[in-house]
Amino acid sequence: MELARDVINGDTEWTALGTDRPVSWKEGNLTVTRTTARTGPGCHNGCFVLLYTDENGKLVKVEGDPESPYNEGRICARCLALPEVVNHPDRLMYPMKRAKEDRGKDKWQRITWDEALDEITEKFNEIKEKWGAKSVQFLQGTGRDISTYILRLAWSFGSPNPGYLLAGSSCYLPRIASLYSETGSFWIADCGQATPERYDDPNYQIPEYMFIWGNNPLQANADGFFGHWVVDLMRRGTKLITIDPRMTWLASRSDLHIRLRSGTDGALALGMLNVIINEDLYDHDFVDKWCYGFDQLKERVQEYPPDKMAEVCWIPEEQLVEAARKFAAGNNTAVQMGLALDMSNAEAIPAIQAIVNMIAITGNYDVPGGMLMPYYILNTGFGWGYDLLTPEEHAQRIGVEKYPFVANGYNFSQPDMVLEAMRTDDPYPVRATWIQTSNPLACTTGEPENQLKSFLNMECNVVVDLFMTPTAMAVADYVLPASTFAERDGLRTCDGCQYGATINKVTQIGEAKGDPEIELMFGHRWNPEAWPWETVDEMHNALLADSFMGNITVDELRQEAPIFKKQTYKKYEKGLIRSDGQPGFNTQTGRIELYSLALQACGLDPLPYYEEPVPSPINDPELFEKYPLILGTGARDYMSFHSEHRQIPTLRNLKKDPEVEINPKTAEKYGIENGDWVWLENQYGKCQHKAKVTPVVAEHMVMADHGWWFPEEDGESPNNYGIWRINVNNLLPNIPGKSGFGTNFKSQFCKIYKVKDGE
Ligand code: SF4
Repeated sequence: MELARDVINGDTEWTALGTDRPVSWKEGNLTVTRTTARTGPGCHNGCFVLLYTDENGKLVKVEGDPESPYNEGRICARCLALPEVVNHPDRLMYPMKRAKEDRGKDKWQRITWDEALDEITEKFNEIKEKWGAKSVQFLQGTGRDISTYILRLAWSFGSPNPGYLLAGSSCYLPRIASLYSETGSFWIADCGQATPERYDDPNYQIPEYMFIWGNNPLQANADGFFGHWVVDLMRRGTKLITIDPRMTWLASRSDLHIRLRSGTDGALALGMLNVIINEDLYDHDFVDKWCYGFDQLKERVQEYPPDKMAEVCWIPEEQLVEAARKFAAGNNTAVQMGLALDMSNAEAIPAIQAIVNMIAITGNYDVPGGMLMPYYILNTGFGWGYDLLTPEEHAQRIGVEKYPFVANGYNFSQPDMVLEAMRTDDPYPVRATWIQTSNPLACTTGEPENQLKSFLNMECNVVVDLFMTPTAMAVADYVLPASTFAERDGLRTCDGCQYGATINKVTQIGEAKGDPEIELMFGHRWNPEAWPWETVDEMHNALLADSFMGNITVDELRQEAPIFKKQTYKKYEKGLIRSDGQPGFNTQTGRIELYSLALQACGLDPLPYYEEPVPSPINDPELFEKYPLILGTGARDYMSFHSEHRQIPTLRNLKKDPEVEINPKTAEKYGIENGDWVWLENQYGKCQHKAKVTPVVAEHMVMADHGWWFPEEDGESPNNYGIWRINVNNLLPNIPGKSGFGTNFKSQFCKIYKVKDGE
């Protein structure tokens, strides 16, 4: 079962920003070029920036583009530090290889791109012949707009297995899958980002309330959502409700901050639904006309009374009730849903479903200042080249048989089953990996030792990256040098995009190449018919021809960008959402399915429910006595993006070591002082972090950094830049939810104690 995606009905009308500026111009000795900061490095938000290069073509400075309605000149430390990344002496400059028996050793040999193309093609073809194309797994990480290209690369090779290694695909995909399965579309909070006029657009209205649920947008700047938009809205009168175990800057300025126990978001949302329905606060008109399954939902939420749910969440009942009333009372309520919903409880899908339903029954979809359905710049983000494989071949994607609901996310294989298959040949052998924009051993998922075993079991591992990483050093047979966004041309393509834009090359480092170009080169070797374009620009012109912009070329887009698709609200009333042109939503019933037929078709509960995370203080009191703190991890910070930036001096000076936040009272109880090195330990493993004593976290929890490695340490195995000593993932088990999505990474237990001298 597969849901329709990427609906971009309507015409191809668009508005350009209308700037008089050229793409680049001179300022003294420097050339200034407008571009989009579509990572890496940085993040995958895609702010508009100005790149300054000197007479030698060296990148020397970055500034925010003041004319951009998206970020209005504002950028963060990571983009400001881009010249240090681009010009760093440790950048990978050319392709390298080493013998399989030398994995983990610094025994690299320089090769040419042609040699890399020949040898990797030969190895992958040998594996294909022996075990089938499906035995090659294509792994991406976050960022570098890679999805469009790596999916096509995998499929054109013949493998149904693109993906990434994060237990339960628990970053963004559960939210996407849940939204699609209930509403037929993806939705993001409407902060006026759909038009160049932003808040001054006469059709726009600011949200009365904005719920910041499970993230800190000021630091996270998630896909297509610039965090400071929240501050812009606050300055115009929007009131915030923040749901987060941590006291963030936004939480401290919210009307209401609900500091719930990690992993209990589903209980909170169901308790709020109970209040909204039982107090008759919902939008009857919208529910009658556009929702399916209200009566079943009403019956289900009776199992979740607010007093019991407040008890589960460790919050006062009044907070839950107040949040529910405010959610329903606002003329328009926007919700910014974050990562915590994906990875604090393996049953992420029903928790998100409860929030999705709450937005529906209060009539907040497709209204100004409510939830916005993004138009995609391309009509291909999730599946460019899907037709290159037959349905029978796609059906062999790892995980879709056991977890049919994973077909509702990206077209990715199920990561926990992939890691198993790499070690056990179940459901079939995986024998090679292509790892691009990802550093899984240092960052991505739990059980890092099992990951290492899985990768070492491969016949061939290829890593494409900017720097030598712990993963590349530990397991790669080939490393290919990738470019930053300053060194390549590209298109701005991602979920949540409301605009079209280009990425514009200003400099070249060594023999590094952009990800689209690398894919095109290997595509030419593996399946030339599937990659008929000679150049990256030709390829992008073909992509644009299928976009909402119609027949615009890359060159024209470069001049005009950003360009915006005409925004219309209440599209469901006008037949602008469904591919058949009928009014309604893009679901089986044409309505928002509060009772989800998509979930039901996959053998899952069609209604939202709550289960405790695993482990849970309620269900596992003895274990909680032994490990009496709840361990959170995965929060973003200003000075890194996952495992990137650890070698960038300006950013590393802002934070030198992995830190764990601990409340002053908890620190006192365990004899820990600010700056002490401590062990975090539980039944799965342990790691060292530096204590940061702060009231930001509640007494019952600690919050540990993720994605740390020390580029200054020995990279050879077994040290691998220190990852085995400092990786918080040592404490995390890979356990997905019933749907195949979600995990319990933010709700594990741990104990904390000081590191002794010499440890
Ligand atoms: S949010 Fe920060 S790192 Fe991300 S693109 Fe914008 S300025 Fe760059």
